[in-house]
Parts: sequence; structure tokens; C-alpha cells
Amino acid sequence: MKKSLALTIGYLYGRLMNTYGDTGNVICLKKRAEERGIKVDVLAIDLNYDPKKDGVADLYFFGGGQDQAQEEVSQDLIKRHSGKFIKEEVEKDKPLLAICGGYQLLGEYYEPQNGPKLAGLGIFKAYTQGSAQRMIGNIVIRIQNLELRIKSEEKDNSSLLVGFENHSGKTFLKEGAQPLGTIIKGFGNNGEDKTEGCIYKNAIGCYMHGSLLPKNPKLADWLIKKALEVKYGEEIKLEPLEDELEQKAHQAAIQRFSK
Ligand code: GLN
Repeated sequence: MKKSLALTIGYLYGRLMNTYGDTGNVICLKKRAEERGIKVDVLAIDLNYDPKKDGVADLYFFGGGQDQAQEEVSQDLIKRHSGKFIKEEVEKDKPLLAICGGYQLLGEYYEPQNGPKLAGLGIFKAYTQGSAQRMIGNIVIRIQNLELRIKSEEKDNSSLLVGFENHSGKTFLKEGAQPLGTIIKGFGNNGEDKTEGCIYKNAIGCYMHGSLLPKNPKLADWLIKKALEVKYGEEIKLEPLEDELEQKAHQAAIQRFSK
């Protein structure tokens, strides 16, 4: 691995969109990169952000939030530079992780039960309809996207992800949209079709708070690796970390919540 690697993590609307420990994802990415000697900066991308003035990132995170915050963010995304810019970044293969409310705003629209339809960016071919049902609890999924699978799989559960969901919006994938995974336990996209999340290029949207990445360290490493590969234009091998405890916590959570 190169000596002086650097990574900028763009935290989208972190002040408005950050529920159920979502900031933990940014902390986890930062720590896992820094432990490998990678220099990390976190760029706050808030309302009125201008990429030309404020700079760009190598990897993006977008957390969940309540309907009121989503309304404000949706307007900013649509009216200002941020929306167009985020779409362009995803098209350049930069990785992005969006959770719950953030995920909903990267689909085509989110229509809350009470209130106006909120426009989304349409990065994911999906739409979200508010419902009277609250889908809440621990969630375990099996990843479908091949690149995210890690070889020794079944034994160590590394093709499984675990998180915590709490939403009433039901997301439906349109034809051609690729789910992130299938439900083992929990509700996922809509509680009906056993899909969870969506993946487009290196952008992942899902309903898993938790925080997701500390509970699923291999997914965190996948995002870091992809970000560095896109940035430096070459294959990057991340050094293994002494993370036996994190891996054990991942497996214990899966065993406990799969039942
Ligand atoms: N407003 C959304 C819903 O309840 C998002 C909630 C969240 O991000 N946790 O469906």
C-alpha cells in the first residue's frame, strides 16, 4: 500500500440528518482508515453547500432523520448545487452510504403520510411511500451484491449485515434496481417483498441504523477500499487490523438478532 494515502469523508447534512447513532458510521470510517496510517478529513456538507467553494470528498455518508428535517434537506438538494453534485460524484464511482431518511431522499421521491411529496435525487430507481405501520427493530440481511461478499462467508457470517431499523416509509424498488440484500430478520425496504436497501454503482442505500458500520466492519473496509481505489486509480489492499473484538461483536449480533 502507498505510504501517504489520504481520504476525505463528506458528511451530508450531518446536523439535520443523524438519528440512532448514524454519526458512528463516520467515526468508524475515520478510525479504521487512520489505524492504517491513512490521513482522514471530514468535510461537513450542510445547507447551502457549494462544491466549488467548499471542496469535494472521496466517500460520502448521509444519515437518517425525521420528516421535518427531510423536507428542509430535500429542498436544498433540489434547488441548490448539492443535488446535482452528489449525482455526479456517484456517477464517478465514488462510494456513498445513505441510511433511512437519507436513502429515501436519494430515491425518486418520499411521500410522507401527512405532508407534501418530497422530491429525491433519483440515484436509486426507487420511491418511498409513508405508511401507518412503524417498522422497528433489529434487522439482519444477506448481501446479494457479489462484490460485497467476502470469501469465507457462511462460517463467519461475513455476507450478513446487521443493523437497527425504525421507519414508517416503505421503499419500493423499480425495475432494474438492485437490492443490497434479502431479509433474514426484520422489515427492510417495505416489510413486504423481503428486499433491503439498494445499490447503484458504489452507492448504497439501506434502512440500517445502529450504527451500521461499527457493527459490520467489513462493509466499512469495503467503502474505504473503494474510495481509495477510485481516488488513486489502482487496486488498494487494506492492511488487516487487530479487530477480533469487532468481528466477534458482529457475529454475536447476527446470532442474537437472526432468531
Ligand atoms: N421519515 C422516515 C421514515 O420514518 C425516516 C426515518 C429515519 O430516518 N429514521 O420513514
